[in-house]
Amino acid sequence: MDSRWHILVVEDDPPIAEVIEYALTSGGFGVERTDRGAAAIARCRREDAPDAVILDVGLPDVDGFEVCREIRRHSAVPILFLTSRADEINRVVGLELGGDDYLAKPFSPRELVARLRAIRRRVASSTAPASACLRHGPFELDPERVRLLVAGAEIELTRQEFRLLEALLSSSGRVFSRSGLLDRAWEEGGAVTDRTIDAHVKTLRRKLGAEAAEWIETVRGIGYRLREH
Ligand code: CA
Repeated sequence: MDSRWHILVVEDDPPIAEVIEYALTSGGFGVERTDRGAAAIARCRREDAPDAVILDVGLPDVDGFEVCREIRRHSAVPILFLTSRADEINRVVGLELGGDDYLAKPFSPRELVARLRAIRRRVASSTAPASACLRHGPFELDPERVRLLVAGAEIELTRQEFRLLEALLSSSGRVFSRSGLLDRAWEEGGAVTDRTIDAHVKTLRRKLGAEAAEWIETVRGIGYRLREH
């Protein structure tokens, strides 16, 4: 099978699309182009979806923000926005649309390739450990099957509780600040406060039962950590 990364380029300006295609192909990426947002949305729903999307914000049919939102309903594919105006950049950064990065026009094709390589590295490092079970103390957490065993018994958690515990288990003994846990467990960001984290830790402890709950220690004024022994 072809192990190259395939990039969907969504850009309605043909000269720019050609520059991008040339840069990516030279950089070892496979490239597919479209100039319409609706086509990009449909393309990302197919089984052979692209590995990443380069998405121009200003498109003739659906704007890039809407395209991103639609894609995100079905897919976590990395999206790199191309913006041409400062207000677009503000929206990309401020709205937390689930884009992975952005470049402002005019951009250097080399920079674009470098950004995509960085995204590829991030994806590779975030998926590799995900297949391994995390075992510590009474816990056995399987990120791939989203399953938690405590002393051999399965315990059902919400997605956020699961991800909180996953973060703590990934690095026992390490103290996680509340904002650090927020980054790990709430990819959407948004209106989550330190109190939200505390509330989730509380319900997580309750579900784990008194004995297992003791493994999650509160570090006063900072956050939480998983006991080492
Ligand atoms: Ca455009």
